[in-house]
Amino acid sequence: MRLILLLFVLLSQLSYSQNPYRIRAEKNLPYLVRDSSLYKQININEYGVFIYAPDNLDYAETKIQWSEVESFLREHHFTSQKTPSNPKKNSLKGIHIALDPGHFANNMETAILERKFMKIDKKDTGTKKDIAFYESDLAWNTAYILSKRLEAKGCNVLITRKKGKTSFGMNFKKWKKKSFKKSLQEDFKNKIIDKKKYDWYLNEATDKDIAKYLNRKDLMNRAKIINEFEPHLTINIHYNASSDRTDANGNFPAIKNNYCMAFTGGGFMKNELNSKEARMNFLRLLLSEDLEQSILFSSVVMKYHQSIAKVPVIPNKNNLRYLQKNSVYADQPGVYCRNLGLTRRVKGTICFGESLMQDNINEAVLLNLKNYKEAGIKTSSRIKLVVDAFEAGIWEYLGNEE
Ligand SMILES: [Zn+2]
Repeated sequence: MRLILLLFVLLSQLSYSQNPYRIRAEKNLPYLVRDSSLYKQININEYGVFIYAPDNLDYAETKIQWSEVESFLREHHFTSQKTPSNPKKNSLKGIHIALDPGHFANNMETAILERKFMKIDKKDTGTKKDIAFYESDLAWNTAYILSKRLEAKGCNVLITRKKGKTSFGMNFKKWKKKSFKKSLQEDFKNKIIDKKKYDWYLNEATDKDIAKYLNRKDLMNRAKIINEFEPHLTINIHYNASSDRTDANGNFPAIKNNYCMAFTGGGFMKNELNSKEARMNFLRLLLSEDLEQSILFSSVVMKYHQSIAKVPVIPNKNNLRYLQKNSVYADQPGVYCRNLGLTRRVKGTICFGESLMQDNINEAVLLNLKNYKEAGIKTSSRIKLVVDAFEAGIWEYLGNEE
């Protein structure tokens, strides 16, 4: 009798440990947790997943048994968009792709406000003219050219913003005039800011402070727009820089390094499971296919950044603080799990790309040129190669042939 009981216990444990959701959760967990203090809020065991609010560790806020995971994911619309197995070759019919070009500046002045600009003295680059461009522009050109190529293959494409505008459809100046006060009033009503902060924003905040505030609101709005579109794939388009310190003349030093990287969700840090919204996104990343698929897609995109755009991926041995301290290596070259506003909130498969270093001396000189034209856009030939790399990545990930 005892033997039978023991056998029964062993067998039932075996079947629990083989539950596919448990296997997935245990595989995802190390990519999701960057700071071990969060483990006190998470319990994964033979029964299911238990998630705790930080101020109530005695009572689980969310309990999901393994048998309930499927309905939990469905109920919260956490199931990834199923990619149609392309009946027609070389077609993206039925596929939704969201392209999110980073930042929003419409001129150098605003780019400086949002600290997303590149200026390098000609003495550093050996060029006739100084280098001057900004990331918002590069990212938008990339998104627009890529969107036209995807649409030509039947894809349904969303770009989260218009050129030089935020996702609210206005540039910085116009938003400040028309929507800033309304947004503050809402924040005050929703207890996101107190009266003191409200008054400070209205009366004392500089344009730089306001641009920072707008950036946070804009990111949340982008996540909302993307999720409403229910894309199969989301690509956030960014161009990296190694320093945000300028010299007295407002110039950056040119650097020799060049590398690309991509972020997926995960890498939650200390206190980053404090809100209910964050805990729900954590559960989605833990139990759905989103993380696994995002890592796969991002690794393919990185592969083509190397082979097509000739940008090396960041070596895993590096001394970048935001990779070493704020991210978890995804075990794929150049891919890191990082808890960014968008990688956390956007459902489904996401690749948050940082395609190259804008302050690399060669890239800076090339990015400053307008030596390429496509889809009515005049831009740098480097942008073309980044578009090529994303396009090849999308194509391969979706199972099409070259
Ligand atoms: Zn950026």
